[in-house]
Amino acid sequence: MSWPPIRPELAGIEPYGAPQLPLDQVPVQLNVNENPYGPSPECVADIAAAVAAAAATLNRYPDREFTELRTALAAYLSRDAGPSGAGIAPEQVWAANGSNEVMLQLLQAFGGPGRTAVSFAPTYSMYPEYARDSMTEWVAGRREDDFSLDLAKARALVEEVRPSVVLLPSPNNPTGTALPPEAVDVLCRAVGEAGVVVVDEAYGEFRRAGVPSALELLPSHRNLVVTRTMSKAFAGAGLRLGYLAADPAICDAIRVVRLPYHLSALTQAAALAALRHAPELLGKVDELRAERDRLVTWLKEQGHDVAESDANFVLFGSFADRHAVWQGLLDHGVLIRETGPDGWLRVSVGTSEEMRAFRQALTSVTVTETGRVTA
Ligand code: PMP
Repeated sequence: MSWPPIRPELAGIEPYGAPQLPLDQVPVQLNVNENPYGPSPECVADIAAAVAAAAATLNRYPDREFTELRTALAAYLSRDAGPSGAGIAPEQVWAANGSNEVMLQLLQAFGGPGRTAVSFAPTYSMYPEYARDSMTEWVAGRREDDFSLDLAKARALVEEVRPSVVLLPSPNNPTGTALPPEAVDVLCRAVGEAGVVVVDEAYGEFRRAGVPSALELLPSHRNLVVTRTMSKAFAGAGLRLGYLAADPAICDAIRVVRLPYHLSALTQAAALAALRHAPELLGKVDELRAERDRLVTWLKEQGHDVAESDANFVLFGSFADRHAVWQGLLDHGVLIRETGPDGWLRVSVGTSEEMRAFRQALTSVTVTETGRVTA
């Protein structure tokens, strides 16, 4: 018998997480899809003042229903809710410590023993972990060679497996692929009343012009959940605030499994203050999208295969030895992510300066006198 007496299916498993290296050793960090721009001094001061005010009441538990924050998030989301003008109401919003926690709560409420969760690989590697941790069976369909979904195949899988949760990231991590609204519509219908369809829009704000948010479909499907996060476009990865919009009955179901007072008073205060600065914090999104499009073009010009991206990262390949390329970049002070299908690598979009450093490093790692791509 090994020690500690952990559940057998967890024994020997490495915890999830990208390498975290100190900034003074690796100055260009493009591995976890963060926004490279920090808040302005005014925004920092406002967050600090809000946190200080909340600190004065820390002897009390926080508002368990985080009503003020739900109201502010609903107002923010309503901008993306489409032309119907219906908007998003506070009781349609739920939040937790990062969209990772939101997603785990969804699996705890709607998955569980005897139930199945489905997604389509390659996709976000935490999904099978939420399933494992909530004792939900995990079934992964496949994406096509261009990482899109074949809708007929996806629907057939849903009809065969009858999942109680379908996880559909849009844009998908690590490929950057956004889903067309028809895909969400078809899968919501296929799942029906037996389950929920979670469209994970962690990178939603980076989508290209003309790509609608699944929020627009909320009035049509009561089994649809759209999750978002303040970690990416919102430049608040350190804040740990993820949220969702759905039918109020879905929020009520999650309230059954959430831990009491899961959102600290400090988190609520900081998130509310950050939301007051939304225009500033989101102000670099257009610049990052333009930088992403330039990066895709450049990588193609270098002869790489590149996945079209609606996110703030780009998947490219394919290398016979991707680890050697990853290590070579790291030796040049550039950290990217070894993830995705065999041979591919993922790079987050940073500042123009960081992207210049990435391009220079990749060129010296992959090009020799004898020709292209050494690794
Ligand atoms: N969904 C996707 C697709 C992601 O890539 C991530 C973060 N890498 C998350 C959810 C979770 O992000 P957070 O917990 O910071 O909101």
